[in-house]
Amino acid sequence: MVTNVLIANRGEIALRVIRACHELGLKATAVCSAADRDAAHVSQADDAICIGPAPAQKSYLNKEAILLAAKLTGADAIHPGYGFLSENADFARMVEDRGLVFIGPTADVIEKMGDKIIAKKAMIDSGVPCVPGTDGALPDDPEVVHEIAKQIGYPVLIKAAAGGGGRGMRVVEMPSELLGAAALTRAEAAQAFSSPAIYIEKFMGHPRHVEIQVLCDNYGNAIWLGERDCSMQRRHQKVLEEAPAPFIARDLIAEVGERAVVACKHIGYRGVGTFEFLYQDGQFYFIEMNTRLQVEHPVTELVTGVDLVQAQLRVARGERLWLTQSDVETRGVAIECRLNAEDPIEFVASPGTITNWWPAGGPGIRVDSHIRTGDTVSPYYDSMIGKLIAYAPTREEAIKRMLRAVRETSVSGVSTNLPLHEQILLNADFQEGNFDIHAIGTKITVGSNV
Ligand code: ADP
Repeated sequence: MVTNVLIANRGEIALRVIRACHELGLKATAVCSAADRDAAHVSQADDAICIGPAPAQKSYLNKEAILLAAKLTGADAIHPGYGFLSENADFARMVEDRGLVFIGPTADVIEKMGDKIIAKKAMIDSGVPCVPGTDGALPDDPEVVHEIAKQIGYPVLIKAAAGGGGRGMRVVEMPSELLGAAALTRAEAAQAFSSPAIYIEKFMGHPRHVEIQVLCDNYGNAIWLGERDCSMQRRHQKVLEEAPAPFIARDLIAEVGERAVVACKHIGYRGVGTFEFLYQDGQFYFIEMNTRLQVEHPVTELVTGVDLVQAQLRVARGERLWLTQSDVETRGVAIECRLNAEDPIEFVASPGTITNWWPAGGPGIRVDSHIRTGDTVSPYYDSMIGKLIAYAPTREEAIKRMLRAVRETSVSGVSTNLPLHEQILLNADFQEGNFDIHAIGTKITVGSNV
């Protein structure tokens, strides 16, 4: 039974989940840190409990405090949102062990897909194409390491098996840099991700980032819900996303989508998930799976008409998939701009009090945000203050609409990355589909330090 959902998160995503709970007639319980007592997600929830001081380690990442909050509030399910504990297998296991429903895949699946080496192997077994590279952890033997890199061909990318959030990666251009880079990445990985395992991949020079959305129930049924293009990135962090991925043959995408569905069945996936790919020279290469809801899920919701958060809650409460693959149809184009409180030139976070908040509105605009005038953007958490999402029948119209929304939105008290979004939307290469993951900083620049 799922009747009372505790949301182990904050900000816009906590609010998004509360809204889905309410639409399904479920009780929504919030948790908050001492810094978030007056936050919108707390006031919108049916019940709320403070779980610790401002630093995330002591609140939103405090597993025992969250489980205690669930017990005290009578919650029977926990939605982790994204970030924080959303891909933490130990937490999912603790939730399950206490007889609560974890809204996401099983702890075993999270663990498996959280290790990028194991995940890649599972994809190869399911016939999903992967970036060429090692099929296991990189050994210590320097000669073997050199041999592997030579076979893949320079430049190569050294990656942490447990890496995430665009961190734990290092490009190596030539053999003389290889061992030093491997040792550094290994040391950083051990420190940041508690696992020194690393692997090597071919470094793709001009790929786009294209990802497939999947939805699975508890009974082995799985579908894919189109794709998103997330090539607009800065330091491997997504900035603007769109659905569908423009200028790629539909049958090629459908082939990858169907492979992703096979992989879901193979690994026993449950809930929503995303298969991330690099797309270069007409080919798709798997890089990793995210076993949770993505920040950019709204663009998929707009083009498919499927509410992904409601879908998560419905499969978590044991419903069989109510859609088959042939029911899924994408229509129109959606674009999302992540609105960050950061300096538009230096891109450092810009915490502070928002003295005026006027998000865009009008036809085809959706704003997912927790911000109200007077709110404080805390230095303790992510600097994202909301997402502007535009929907229109064609890409050209969606770009124009998004540009209108970016210009209409006004935020005072903190700096934002609105100028960067304006530059992306105005860029001819972006408009014509002539871009890759390096576009921001090469083709598209704002200020001096993109
Ligand atoms: P994370 O878990 O940190 O998000 P990913 O493996 O998804 O790590 O990679 C993040 C980003 O890094 C990708 O979106 C892409 O921009 C870049 N990237 C990853 N693998 C490669 C590669 N083999 N070649 C070039 N760029 C890559």
